Amino acid sequence: MAEITQPSANIGVVGLAVMGSNLARNLASREGNTVAIFNRSYEKTETLLTEHPEAEFVPAKTYEEFAASLQKPRTAIIMVQAGRGTDAVIDALTEVFEPGDIIVDGGNALFTDTIRREKAVRETGINFVGAGISGGEEGALLGPSIMPGGSAEAWETLGPILKSIAAVVDGEPCVTHVGTDGAGHFVKMIHNGIEYADMQLIGEAYDLIRRGTGKSPAEIADIFTEWNKGELESYLIEITAEVLRQVDEKTGKPLVDVILDQAGSKGTGVWTVQTALDLGIPVSGIAEAVFARSVSSKPAQRAAASALPGPTASPVENVDAFIEGVRQALYASKVIAYSQGFDAIVAGAEQYNWDIKKGDIAKIWRGGCIIRARFLNRITDAYAENPGLVSLVTAPFFTDVVTQAQDSWRNVVADAAHAGIPAPVFASSLSYYDSLRADRLPAALTQGQRDFFGAHTYKRVDMEGTFHTLWSGDRTEIESVDSH
Ligand code: NAP
Repeated sequence: MAEITQPSANIGVVGLAVMGSNLARNLASREGNTVAIFNRSYEKTETLLTEHPEAEFVPAKTYEEFAASLQKPRTAIIMVQAGRGTDAVIDALTEVFEPGDIIVDGGNALFTDTIRREKAVRETGINFVGAGISGGEEGALLGPSIMPGGSAEAWETLGPILKSIAAVVDGEPCVTHVGTDGAGHFVKMIHNGIEYADMQLIGEAYDLIRRGTGKSPAEIADIFTEWNKGELESYLIEITAEVLRQVDEKTGKPLVDVILDQAGSKGTGVWTVQTALDLGIPVSGIAEAVFARSVSSKPAQRAAASALPGPTASPVENVDAFIEGVRQALYASKVIAYSQGFDAIVAGAEQYNWDIKKGDIAKIWRGGCIIRARFLNRITDAYAENPGLVSLVTAPFFTDVVTQAQDSWRNVVADAAHAGIPAPVFASSLSYYDSLRADRLPAALTQGQRDFFGAHTYKRVDMEGTFHTLWSGDRTEIESVDSH
């Protein structure tokens, strides 16, 4: 390799597995970019150079060479295995970078790790940016949705570079400075959580139609293609039709029938639910979606339970009406999943002091990422109309959606229960909706029970103060000075 005499690259990528090499190619394809590339083992660097001789790459064999090839402030995007790999690369880069330089972690880091890393790197004077990047390999190559955190100073240098490679919708790049330190990875985590709910909802819709009406995967593919022309238009609906239409080349059966029905995961859904639990935010749709994957991956329990009794299914009478009902139930449940996801973003922003613009987040999810969908525009509009919106589902547009859908939604959830077809996200979303709109909740009874067994006290609807009933005494009520 030629010796580097002067820094010629304006951006660098460390980690040239599938995501990093595609991101490096994306960067190199944009005018004005020269991309320094480095991978721990040089083979991947060589492969990238050989396969893409046209790209403006400056290869490096060591971190020192990599740093020397970058113009100042040096800017490098790390795309390596999340966790230890990321820490190892950060350590190496902080050795060869200088104050004012920028290290970007584009991997799927847990946002609390990003907060920790940002704090540690900041002490060296180097900027650290945790950037969520969504869209898989194709997004990395053609234009992802990018959710960067980090300092405003880093964003000044990084912003134009990230804008140049992000997906573009209506002339706007799908990237915004989300907030400081871990804000970007936090929002990416919520994106993935919503993705879990969205995928599970589509799965439930498919299952209900298949088992309820007996339609074939190919016929259901046509239904999804039709749905994709309307308000449900989204990447996930589009690819669902493609998957359902696929025929297995070995058996001639629909591919979906020969794929083992045990769903895997890489953990970001679990992170979302764990974080939401800590924040006290009900993300029941996302949680049920994560649990649905867990149930699927318990073959021994499923085999043992397969003989348990179920209902005698009666055939759906009006197939077209049923399918339309499922579509509406899907739409309403999806509104709830997003509403809950945005609640988690609001709570995270409050907890960690991030100034997150909810409308901008919906905007940058319109392209490049897995949950890209037409209706995200409506979320942006809702927050533009009312930035203090307390729940997305209460925005006029979404209230209309659930109002129109609710009869079908209720029927579909009831039909699923009658037919013995699991629909955990449809059902939990409806329960959440009914909980939210309830005049009174049985939480009053819960408080009574807590006071009974643990003297945990309660508040009253008709006066200020905290109260306790002397349950094991004469059952009179006393005012309590401290609450538990
Ligand atoms: P990956 O399989 O997660 O990681 C492989 C890369 O990490 C290789 O370049 C490897 O170098 C490097 N690496 C591992 N440990 C290292 C260490 N200690 N020091 C230096 N380099 C080390 O790659 P990926 O699938 O391209 O994903 C990269 C990142 O993007 C991950 O954080 C992933 O979660 C995230 N992401 C992936 C997707 C996706 O669709 N795949 C989507 C969004 C985000 P060697 O070649 O030397 O082993």
